[in-house]
Amino acid sequence: MPLDPSRTVAELRELRELTGDENGAQRVAWTDTWQRAQEWMSSKLEGTGAAESFDAAGNQWWTLPGAGERALILGGHLDSVPNGGWLDGCLNVIAGSEVLRRIAAEGEPPLTVRLVSWADEEGARFGRSLFGSSAAAGSMADQGELRALNDADGRSLPDAISAFGVDLDGALDARSELENAAAYLELHIEQGPVLESMDLPLGAVLGTFGVERHRITWRGQAAHAGSTPMDKRRDALAGAAKLALEIREIAARVGDGAVMTSGGVVTKPGIVTSVVETAEQLLDMRHLDADKLAELYGAAREASERFAQEEDIEVEWERIWQIEPILFDETLVGFADEAIQEVAGTSHRLPSGPLHDAAEVSRAGVPTAMLFVQSLRGLSHTKLEDTKSEHLELAVQALDRLATKTLAWAADR
Ligand SMILES: [Zn+2]
Repeated sequence: MPLDPSRTVAELRELRELTGDENGAQRVAWTDTWQRAQEWMSSKLEGTGAAESFDAAGNQWWTLPGAGERALILGGHLDSVPNGGWLDGCLNVIAGSEVLRRIAAEGEPPLTVRLVSWADEEGARFGRSLFGSSAAAGSMADQGELRALNDADGRSLPDAISAFGVDLDGALDARSELENAAAYLELHIEQGPVLESMDLPLGAVLGTFGVERHRITWRGQAAHAGSTPMDKRRDALAGAAKLALEIREIAARVGDGAVMTSGGVVTKPGIVTSVVETAEQLLDMRHLDADKLAELYGAAREASERFAQEEDIEVEWERIWQIEPILFDETLVGFADEAIQEVAGTSHRLPSGPLHDAAEVSRAGVPTAMLFVQSLRGLSHTKLEDTKSEHLELAVQALDRLATKTLAWAADR
């Protein structure tokens, strides 16, 4: 059976009908609708010769045995956010199934070929993303926190996952799934505006941004809005406001795709008749280069101390979360570039702002590459998420070529 990219588009529409409603995709992990998507996917892979299994973290696998035990893995996630888009995650799995079908039809591949649908990539219900892939990668280290997580209805995470046969303490046994991994490939919608702005259908992903996330507390003095002259104020909000604008300069100066976001400021007492006494500001900084990420952080801190002095207020930083940049395999990124050029004429290399399962797999030491396909208007995690059909078909072709190149390379090693 030759590759049929139009079938991927048809199957995406079928899954949308089966698991979505007027508000968008509803395949939230550990729910009946997610299970319906899993069963539907299984039915699509029947007759290919790929054996289905679930691992200790609830990841769903299909394994097509090859001449060698080492495996090329294609992956994605069938779960979505509530009211999500029709492509996020499931494009990867469905396109992967098309590639697997094509490989299976050609006889025994040189390496084993596996398709995986990672469990709970989105973390939409319990607030913990990349559940299945972090377990398989062995980087899951927050079992204590996971045990305490509840959904909006008060159901605990251990309880919800046990309905799917997953035990929190045993989830890390999924590590054995990556033992024979020779390479990992993932196709994903871009979820941002870069490819569309360049009028390109596809891009090769260099890696995922490192992230520094901080809570900055500014402390001044509450004072009467009427009786306190302007030059006698110690206004905590002034510090936060200056920093919120300064990050534009810092990001521009450091460059190379740097992004910084002041995502929220909460002021107290927060009334119209008082100068602000405390302002709690949230700051997110991202870069693909670890040194430049450190530069963003250093420059923001330095600026905050300067503003504190200027405004006669105090500033204090607290790190909420951090992750190092994760760079994908240079050889495989090169193959991704070639594959895109072959099907679309032009390629472009770009970093990924969002984290993906591919980042976890790469962190585990498996050579990894990702393809991005253009997102219309850069929108995702909404029912408005969309990609042109012809671009989806090109994406399947590019993934197929990337898989062929990677198989040949891995078989040779
Ligand atoms: Zn996704």
